[in-house]
Amino acid sequence: MSEKNNPVRMCVICKSRLSQKSLYRFQVKDGVLKPFCKSGRSFYICKVCLDENQQKLIRVLNNKYNLNLPYVPTYGETLKEISLNG
Ligand SMILES: [Zn+2]
Repeated sequence: MSEKNNPVRMCVICKSRLSQKSLYRFQVKDGVLKPFCKSGRSFYICKVCLDENQQKLIRVLNNKYNLNLPYVPTYGETLKEISLNG
C-alpha cells in the first residue's frame, strides 16, 4: 500500500504513529471538544488511548487545549460516540 493511500498520523496522547484510518479525529472549538468538521486545527487520538488511557487522555487534553474535561472512567467511550455521531 502506498503512503498516499494510507497516510500516517500521530496520536496526541501516546505519540504513536498509526494509519489515519485507525485514528479518531477531533478539534477544539470555543473551548469545547468536538469531532473534526472539515475546518480549523484538528488532532488525532488512537483507539487504545480512548479505550485504556483515559486518565492520561483527559489530563493531556486539558493541559494541551486548556479544557476542563471531567475525569470520568468512560470518557473515551463518550468521545468515540461523539466522533461517530458528528
Ligand atoms: Zn494513543
